[in-house]
Amino acid sequence: THFGYETVTESVKQERVAEVFTSVAESYDKMNDLMSLGVHRLWKDHFVSSLNPGATNPIGMPQRILDVAGGTGDIAFRMLQHAHVNNGNPNVHVTISDINPAMLAVGKQRSLSLPASHQSSLSFLEANAEVLPKTIADNSLDLYTVCFGIRNFSNMPAALKEAYRVLKPGGIFACMEFSKVDKYPIFNAIYKQWSFSAIPLIGQLVAGDRDSYQYLVESIERFPSQTEFRDMIAEAGFSIVGKGYEDLTGGVAAIHKGIKP
Ligand code: SAM
Repeated sequence: THFGYETVTESVKQERVAEVFTSVAESYDKMNDLMSLGVHRLWKDHFVSSLNPGATNPIGMPQRILDVAGGTGDIAFRMLQHAHVNNGNPNVHVTISDINPAMLAVGKQRSLSLPASHQSSLSFLEANAEVLPKTIADNSLDLYTVCFGIRNFSNMPAALKEAYRVLKPGGIFACMEFSKVDKYPIFNAIYKQWSFSAIPLIGQLVAGDRDSYQYLVESIERFPSQTEFRDMIAEAGFSIVGKGYEDLTGGVAAIHKGIKP
C-alpha cells in the first residue's frame, strides 16, 4: 500500500530523531565534550584541515560550501576560520543546514560571537538532507560536509543522491561519522562498555535525558561499516580515491570522501 512498511518506519525514525535533537540541543555542546572526553574537537579540527577550505586555485576564488546536519555549527565555524585565517580567503560561503530548528537556534546564537567577517560568510537553512530545497541548484556547490549527522537520516541513499545533485562536477562529498572498531577487539570491548554504560548515564546525570543518549549509542551500533558505507557513496555515483575512508581513533569515527565526476 501507499503506507508501506518502509515509509512508516522512516517517518517513525524521523520523529524520534526530531525529539532527540530538540531535547539535547541546549546541552549538546557540553555533552559532546563529556562523551568523547574532548576528542570530538580533535576529530573536527582534523576533518576541516583535511578539506582545507578556502584553498582555491588561484587563491581568493569563491567557494560554496553546504554543511548538512550542521547543528550547532562546529564544522561550519571551523571551516570559516580555516578559510579566512589559514588560507586568507574570505570569499567562502558556508550554509549550515539542519532539519531541527532547536539545533539551528543554538548555532545562530553561538555564531554571534564569531568575527563579523565570518558571520557575513555564513547562512542558516532549515532543511531535510533527503530533500534539499530546489533553491540549492544542481551543480552549484564546491563542498558538501556532513558530520555525525548521516546515521540519523531515515533514508541515507536519498541524502547521498541529493549531495550528488547539488555538487559541481569535481565537487567533494565529505562525511565524518562514528564507525567500527572491529580491528582492535580489546579496545572495542572497552569502547562498547563506555558507550552502552557510561554515555546513557552521563546523559541522565548531565542532561536529565537517558533515553536520547541511549538512542544515540544504538544509532552508532546500527550504522554500516567503513567499507559498506564507502560502497553506498560509490553507489550514489561518486568517485572514490584510494580506499575511500580514513579511520580516527582506531575506527571510533571515520572520514569518508567522494568526488562527483
Ligand atoms: N554536525 C554537528 C556536529 O558535528 O556537531 C551536529 C551533529 S548532531 C549529532 C546531528 C544533527 O543531524 C542534528 O542537529 C539533527 O537535527 C540533524 N539531522 C538529523 N536528521 C536530519 C535530516 N534528515 N536532515 C538534516 N539534518 C538532520
